[in-house]
Amino acid sequence: DHSSMEVINPATGEETESYEEDDWAEIDTALDRAVDTFEDWRQRSVREREQFLVDLADVIRDEKHHYAELMTREMGKPISQAIAEIEKCAWLCDHYASHAGTYLQEEQHPSPPGTSVKTVHDPLGPVLAVMPWNFPFWQALRFSVPYITAGNVGLLKHASNVPGCALAIEELYEKAGYPEGVFQTLVVGSDPVDDILADERIRAATLTGSGPAGRAVASKAGEQLKKTVLELGGSDPFVVLEDADLDAAVETGTRARNQNGGQSCIAAKRFIVVDDVYDEYIDRFTEEFEALTIGDPMDEETDVGPQARRDLMEGLHEQVIASVDAGATAITGGEPLDREGAYYPPTILADVPENCPASDEELFGPVAAVFRVADESAAIEMANDTQFGLGASVWTEDRDRGERVAREIDAGCVYVNQLVKSDPRVPFGGVKESGYGRELSGIGIKEFVNRKTVWVE
Ligand code: NDP
Repeated sequence: DHSSMEVINPATGEETESYEEDDWAEIDTALDRAVDTFEDWRQRSVREREQFLVDLADVIRDEKHHYAELMTREMGKPISQAIAEIEKCAWLCDHYASHAGTYLQEEQHPSPPGTSVKTVHDPLGPVLAVMPWNFPFWQALRFSVPYITAGNVGLLKHASNVPGCALAIEELYEKAGYPEGVFQTLVVGSDPVDDILADERIRAATLTGSGPAGRAVASKAGEQLKKTVLELGGSDPFVVLEDADLDAAVETGTRARNQNGGQSCIAAKRFIVVDDVYDEYIDRFTEEFEALTIGDPMDEETDVGPQARRDLMEGLHEQVIASVDAGATAITGGEPLDREGAYYPPTILADVPENCPASDEELFGPVAAVFRVADESAAIEMANDTQFGLGASVWTEDRDRGERVAREIDAGCVYVNQLVKSDPRVPFGGVKESGYGRELSGIGIKEFVNRKTVWVE
């Protein structure tokens, strides 16, 4: 007597697929299998685990169109962006296939004469990952590729609107020849997550998603003294100074706000523009927004497809209405499109006042909030005036100035003259209510290891 998970195609509003949810007996079997597999997997050398990644990258590339279409059907991402996401997953595998061994090398420490003191990196065991729907493949591989290569095993509880992607990712690992149980998908909603976290077979957890979901998982894991990594929301500032290359700042700002339908934690959300260039910036920014192609996400030409779920689009629209009521002006967009599917147009809110959703909350959709500030120091102050601290982007043709401003912004990363993006080579994560811990790079792969000191006299 299983419950089921229905998938609604957000481009049409139609139910396309139904998946049976796992019950506790199935979860229990998966947990046992994870523990059994871990005993074998942890014994393998990093070199051997790197080799599996070479095959995983091949499997991903071989069927990239198939996986991209599945993603687009489930959550509405434009197909060209879905293909790029799958390619990025293969790059992630390439990266750790060449670097995991170096990242996980033992570290020697200064020690008294005649002793040897080093840190070795042991895996922790089964890791539960609670993941969101916005980058269904990337997010799941971003945690699993490094953690599994460090010798852990993974269990994925994906968002309830992307069960097909969740199962496809498990299939990728199978096709690449990984031992059964190294990566498993649990087809479950959020209800059983507490019990899974409390189970002694789970050793650590990671979550990407909203603040409330992050708090729920972190507090439950905290009760059990299990380590967590959290990658939560953001309201990233995009600071345009008077000496910015405006062509680039307009073009990249448009992309940074609208890619993936604006549904990205590291999307630029608050555009903070100094007075000298504000009018010109906003005119050109509006032109770019209005030039975007909105439509069927399966069409290669589409820039912006539907929002992933109708309820989320409705929540976004409420945030827009409340911001306009508080005094913001919708220069373009601002109303759901009158067509089937959960379509929200690229929207610019100008003259956004303080204390409204567009200034205080995360707007998870294609809505740019634009703020006018007097100068650099006011821009920095506003950039930091937020509960979040994920990423930030700063635009100036003076690279030294850019770096100086970057150092004054409280965020997990600041990109100067570039959009904030995740990259396997670079640590990724936030501060404040954007979460804690880092993913990717040599730092991320060591989040879920026991850094064990071995002192030999
Ligand atoms: P959620 O944070 O609710 O969902 C993310 C994941 O957490 C899903 O797998 C979800 O499962 C799970 N989850 C939710 N609540 C709990 C809980 N109490 N215990 C355990 N797991 C839980 O995001 P939504 O999809 O509802 O989106 C809402 C908002 O969250 C967005 O508008 C956006 O602001 C933010 N968000 C941020 C993301 C990011 O990348 N930082 C990604 C997605 C959303 P299930 O789907 O089964 O509910």
